[in-house]
Amino acid sequence: MPLYDYKCAKCGETFSLVLSINEKETKKIKCPKCNSIRVKPVYSGFFAVTSKKS
Ligand SMILES: [Zn+2]
Repeated sequence: MPLYDYKCAKCGETFSLVLSINEKETKKIKCPKCNSIRVKPVYSGFFAVTSKKS
């Protein structure tokens, strides 16, 4: 199964999860550190993680 990287918008923790497509669509992804659901997917090798967007 594919591995997805996420970054927590609250505490900045980065973590990886193995999810099926179905899980990815339906599951609420939570930060393992602070339990926030404000997590963003990180696509490595694509865009650098930045808040800048024009
Ligand atoms: Zn967090």
